[in-house]
Parts: sequence; C-alpha cells; structure tokens
Amino acid sequence: MEEWQQGEVIENIKWTSNLASLKIKADIMPHQAGQFTKIGLKVNDNLITRAYSYASAPDEKLLEIIYINIPTGTLSPKLHQLKKGDKIQIMKQATGYFTMEEVPDGKNLWMVATGTALGVFLALLKTDLPWQRFKKIVLVHGVRHSDELIYQDLIQELNKTYPNQLSYIRTVTRDKVADCFNYRIPIGIESRDFQSYANIEINEDSQFMLCGNPQMIKDTSVTLNSFGLKRNRRAKPGNITVERYWL
Ligand SMILES: Cc1cc2nc3c(=O)[nH]c(=O)nc-3n(C[C@H](O)[C@H](O)[C@H](O)COP(=O)(O)OP(=O)(O)OC[C@H]3O[C@@H](n4cnc5c(N)ncnc54)[C@H](O)[C@@H]3O)c2cc1C
Repeated sequence: MEEWQQGEVIENIKWTSNLASLKIKADIMPHQAGQFTKIGLKVNDNLITRAYSYASAPDEKLLEIIYINIPTGTLSPKLHQLKKGDKIQIMKQATGYFTMEEVPDGKNLWMVATGTALGVFLALLKTDLPWQRFKKIVLVHGVRHSDELIYQDLIQELNKTYPNQLSYIRTVTRDKVADCFNYRIPIGIESRDFQSYANIEINEDSQFMLCGNPQMIKDTSVTLNSFGLKRNRRAKPGNITVERYWL
C-alpha cells in the first residue's frame, strides 16, 4: 500500500521548452540513491501518479527530479505548469532496485542514460559508494539535441573531484556538437569509440547500469551480449543492470 505525503514545489527549472527539473520540499522516509518515487496530482478528483527517479542524493535537503513534458502525456504537462508554492503528492517511501547494492563488484562501472535518466546517475554519483567500489566510472549521456545536455556544472565539479576516475561521454543524435559523439549509444560501443575515449576495454570486469529509453536498453544489451556480458539478476548475478522508464 502506497503511503502519500504532501510536498511543496520550491522550484520548477525549465532547461528547454520541455525538459525541466522539479525541486520539492517534503518530509519523506530515508531512501537509497538510485531509487524512485511517485508523484501524484489530483485531476478531476482522481490522483494521477507517475514514477520519477530521484536526481537528488538521499542526504540533500530538497528532493529533485528531472522530467520531460510530453504534451500528449497525462501527468507531465501538469508537472510543467507547477509553480513555487504549489502542492503535490509524493510517496513517503521511495522504492526500486537500481541501487549500488544490486550491482555486483567489478573494475569499471558504466552508467548509461538517455534523456531524463541522467538524474538517477547524478544521485548515485553524489554519494561515495560508486567511487569507493569502482576504479573507473564512465557516465554516458545520450540526447537528441545539445540543449538537453543539462547539469554541466555539477558534472564538471565531479570531474574536478575525481579527475582520474570519471569519464563523461556525451552523444547527441540530432545536432553536430564539438566534443560530443553523434550516434546512438550501442553504435558508440560497437565501434569501440566510447572505450577508446574512456581508455578502457569492455570485459567481464565491466559493470553496466542502463537507464531510460527501453529501446536503448534493448539494443545496448544486445551489443553488450556480444562482448560476453549478461543481464544482472538477483538469482543470477551478471554485468548489465537495467531500469526502463516505459514499456
Ligand atoms: C522506475 C521509473 C522511473 C522513472 N523516472 C523518470 C524520470 O526520472 N523522469 C521522467 O521524465 N520520467 C520518468 N519515468 C517516466 C514517468 O513515470 C512518466 O511515464 C512520464 O513522466 C510521462 O508521464 P505522462 O503521464 O505525461 O505520460 P504517459 O502517458 O505516462 O507516457 C506517454 C509516453 O511518453 C514517453 N515517455 C515516458 N517517459 C519518458 C521520458 N522520461 N523521456 C522520454 N519519453 C518518455 C513514452 O513513450 C510513454 O509511452 C520513470 C518511469 C519509471 C517506470
């Protein structure tokens, strides 16, 4: 049974016409980086709810999510209209298994996101655990347009803090941008361009976390299978841990 808590909107940051971050003040139960919540809004007396990964680390004062406004969607256009001081419903207890605890040991950790899924990796990277457990971390962010490459300041900060440990790979499919790749994520791996950029190989010492667009997860998993890597399941540990944002 989901238990709901009232939250207050502190900021609704618009990065582009449809990409935004919501900062929320709410008194929720402790949770782990990598988990998601549900946000609910009353529409004609019905509570409409959707899942959102926390982009904030568990110890941050304000809760933060990154969302995309899907004009034909049910909830996201309503999130997009929220203003400072507006009230929302939020799950008292976050949930989900896309956490460091679920990722087996390895040498290198690849965090692979499309679009808004960057957020879940920011939450994880703001904590110590991934840095303590892995020699190298490769953050791959795939977007369509260059203005969707958000949180550059935070990523630069992480780069400064972990200069020898972090590689940040940006791939923008619909714009040509300096210092960014220009193709879909599985192609970056198949071509070995991402590995050359990060200066590491993909092998049984690699752990992958894939999050966001289900097609990216499917295609990247197939590519990783050709490198001998298999899905990570609780009953049968492997190298590919996934979280899909839709079916
Ligand atoms: C575990 C989990 C975590 C999630 N975390 C996030 C998050 O951090 N940020 C976020 O924006 N969404 C996230 N989602 C998706 C979110 O729950 C909603 O589906 C999304 O906000 C759209 O809701 P909607 O009611 O407007 O449209 P819906 O009617 O629910 O969806 C319409 C369509 O929009 C597309 N879509 C849904 N989500 C996205 C997305 N993120 N990017 C691009 N296209 C999308 C799909 O094609 C979907 O069929 C998550 C989903 C799950 C299951």
